[in-house]
Amino acid sequence: MSPVVSARKLDIKGIVQGVGFRPYIYQLAAAHDLKGSVVNTGFGVRVHVEGRPEKVAGFCRAMATHGPPMARITEITEHQSPPAGFSDFTIGQTDRGTASVNTFVCPDTAVCADCLREMHDPRDRRYRYPFINCTNCGPRYTIVYDLPYDRPYTTMKHFEMCDQCRAEYHDPSSRRFHAQPNACPVCGPGAVVCHSTGQKIPCTDPIAHAADQLKAGAIVAIKGLGGFHLAADAANCKAVAGLRRKKGRAEKPFAVMASGLEQVRTFARVSPEEQDLLTSSQRPIVLVEKKASNFLCDAVAPDNPCFGVMLPYTPLHHLLLEHGFAALVMTSGNAAKEPIVTDNEGAFFALGGIADYFLIHDRDICVRADDSIVRHVAGTQRVIRRSRGYAPAPLALNFRCPQILACGAELKNTVCLTKDENAFLSQHIGDLENPGAFDFFRSTIDHLRGLFDITPEVVAHDMHPDYMSTRYALAQSAVKHVAVQHHHAHVVSCMAENRISDTVIGLAFDGTGYGTDGRIWGGEVLVADAAAFVRAAHLQYVPMPGGNAAVADPRRMAAGWLHQAFGNQWVDLDLECVRSRDPEELAVISRMIEKQINSPLTSSMGRLFDTVAAIAGIHSGPVEFEGQAAMKLEAAAGANPGLLDQKACYPYDLPADTHGAIEIRPLIRAVVDDVQAGRSAAEISRRFHSTLVYLFSRICDQIRARQGISRVVLTGGVFQNACLLSAMAGRLTAMDFSVYTHGLVPANDGGISLGQAVAAAAGMP
Ligand code: ZN
Ligand code: ZN
Ligand code: FE
Repeated sequence: MSPVVSARKLDIKGIVQGVGFRPYIYQLAAAHDLKGSVVNTGFGVRVHVEGRPEKVAGFCRAMATHGPPMARITEITEHQSPPAGFSDFTIGQTDRGTASVNTFVCPDTAVCADCLREMHDPRDRRYRYPFINCTNCGPRYTIVYDLPYDRPYTTMKHFEMCDQCRAEYHDPSSRRFHAQPNACPVCGPGAVVCHSTGQKIPCTDPIAHAADQLKAGAIVAIKGLGGFHLAADAANCKAVAGLRRKKGRAEKPFAVMASGLEQVRTFARVSPEEQDLLTSSQRPIVLVEKKASNFLCDAVAPDNPCFGVMLPYTPLHHLLLEHGFAALVMTSGNAAKEPIVTDNEGAFFALGGIADYFLIHDRDICVRADDSIVRHVAGTQRVIRRSRGYAPAPLALNFRCPQILACGAELKNTVCLTKDENAFLSQHIGDLENPGAFDFFRSTIDHLRGLFDITPEVVAHDMHPDYMSTRYALAQSAVKHVAVQHHHAHVVSCMAENRISDTVIGLAFDGTGYGTDGRIWGGEVLVADAAAFVRAAHLQYVPMPGGNAAVADPRRMAAGWLHQAFGNQWVDLDLECVRSRDPEELAVISRMIEKQINSPLTSSMGRLFDTVAAIAGIHSGPVEFEGQAAMKLEAAAGANPGLLDQKACYPYDLPADTHGAIEIRPLIRAVVDDVQAGRSAAEISRRFHSTLVYLFSRICDQIRARQGISRVVLTGGVFQNACLLSAMAGRLTAMDFSVYTHGLVPANDGGISLGQAVAAAAGMP
């Protein structure tokens, strides 16, 4: 009598393609003495196993609890199945199928330790090969045209594998079984070094050649995973200054790449949590505290207490950094506000005037992805720019969501597509006023829609009528359009990330967002759920003389506030931000404010930070990028500002009613008094931060007393301010509020699209 055989069919969803899932299943089946098959499908992976019932059960248990490092299972569906009489266990051909695609694409992953070991082994056939990878590491999202994740649907389709690579690819016991980017020096991509004209430089080791040029002070454009970098020796001040001049970027900090943690520690302080982030497989840029004395040029991150640091994440980076640099500046390879360049021809065209040499290769980049940026604040990683390594991993929603496209905001744009319980937040796209970024926006939407087979029934967008993202949304036909207020979207984004749905008090602090009254909001207290909100309090309105010109020059914004606080006499104040302009200019600004000419009203918190920075003389003059003055104001508070001192607060009043404007004039007058009394920038900054913490925590307390809401959400770009975030969260927690903040989703406008999608879903009948 033959033994009892039972069979099971399993459908597995999640990040299960391109991560070594099938060989893992193959080996697991062998360990349990089972026959059957495993195959990639449009929805994920399908497994058929048969054998002794207890072995089948053991297999199912093991599969649910363990998996290859890059895999992420979101759902397993088990079906009973009649035994099919398999004689062995096979890995089947990919079934592209006709059903809806329901699988995920893995984000790009830093080269793994096994591959690095081989790369450094002179006996290995991939010794010093800059494109080594395996099923556990390497490019993914940036090389994928379409699903299923198979070589013909990636930019590796042009490289035919040699016999040895092919054998690995087909051997279930190999680390490279079905590793789609599998390659070697014989059959795979190769690196070359070129002059800025595009003319190839003949040499045996292009990476060594590029390293020599970098050491000699050259700027080298380097093709990476999601786009080009512009590199320069971070210890060579002439080179760094040259890069700043040619890129037209005077002060905005440059990121650096160092060969390892030890090198990073020579110029920055690294906490254990920051170390984990630096060495994570996502390999983001991590903001770490500068050491007072270090070998890097001041021009790398002038007037900034932090360095943005990353470790090498491609094999090519490792080989380059082994040439003994303290660190390399590695800034995005783009011209002005354009998206980063991804193709070789485009690079010579766009970067030829900046770079002296080009270190390029012939593996195409299908999807552009900037380096991600994170900062560890108040016990958690805060993703400031979510891109390479993070996108397009899905964010799990706490409800089943219809298919929605959310188009995001205008600056720091991302888009979001939803399907089932998943939100696919795109990589960082950029500022849509730039035509190149707008093209990138459209192609990202098309690409993600195709990859995840999403046909949106709703397109959500910002309320601002002139945003490019709004115009795009309204131009889509045969869908429902839903406008979501900017700060409501910020609050819902934070709620969605924290998987909460109940009514919250949302503190949404940012620079600019279109309000329901047509004014520019930004210092907002909303009582909100995902579907709707009430504006409970906001900073009092103040004119922005010159509109956008007041964003570009905080002194103008200060003029708006000083006029509120002192009337016409503001022009006589003995303040640097007033003195530094000639009387005629001041008269023009005064007239604009009084006659309400081109002086839109704003309740922006970002602009209040700019104002205090200008009045305190911390930043006098135009800004190079939004938030620059506010960042300096934060830095002035010092590393351990000790903000929880109520006595340090400037005078403030609580809003009288439930829709109240918060009176800020007493604060402005007190800051002016402090400046005139010669108090330090550090003290003024600390007092200002303290005031915000006490003022807004008391407003939350008022709302709790009235409405019984004890959950507070902190969101908006201003909460990238680590000092404000930690102090506000700390104070509210001490007052027994449940506080929710951003982690994987940016607090800035990069998180808006997620909030729009979830708000639109909540508002659906
Ligand atoms: Zn590897
Ligand atoms: Zn090969
Ligand atoms: Fe915003």
